[in-house]
Amino acid sequence: MLDFELHDKFKVRIKIPQAEFNVNDLVSCCKSLSKSLVQSFFEKILYELQAHILNHYLGAVWNSNNSIPTPWECPRCRNRIAFNRRGKRKRSLKSSVGILCFHLLQVTCLDCEKTFSPFPLLLGIESRHRLTKELEQFLCTVVKDNSYSKTAKAFNLLLGLDLSPTTVHRTVQKHGQEVEVIEDLR
Ligand SMILES: [Zn+2]
Repeated sequence: MLDFELHDKFKVRIKIPQAEFNVNDLVSCCKSLSKSLVQSFFEKILYELQAHILNHYLGAVWNSNNSIPTPWECPRCRNRIAFNRRGKRKRSLKSSVGILCFHLLQVTCLDCEKTFSPFPLLLGIESRHRLTKELEQFLCTVVKDNSYSKTAKAFNLLLGLDLSPTTVHRTVQKHGQEVEVIEDLR
């Protein structure tokens, strides 16, 4: 076991599984380390950002002050002034840095009791979408010189995304770009 101190607040422990450890093994270690770091970083920052927004508009958790109009409205009664925090729900997105799992904080409207998360709208997360916009744009760029199936395979291999050729095709259609694809869906 090796312990490295890369930064005063950032320590890394790497388990070396064999005596003959080469640069390829190190790349594998870096790959799995970066994957877990990106996931942790994304989840933590997104959570803190949502908590910060709720604190600003609803007041601190134990000192609720619902007098400021919120940048979101209740999807049922259009209320903008009276909400309570109401837990969180899980969500995931496929992105150009892999699959990202996170929580969306929720609120309950005090007028009609509808519970919802205001954050998909505030943070650019489309409700039924499973891909980030930046991944969609990346796919559209790569598919120009490839087929739908080859593009899906390459992204799945590199990023572990489990994209289908149909998803790539739908993404290209959504963005309405003129993309010449070498092969059709297969
Ligand atoms: Zn409402």
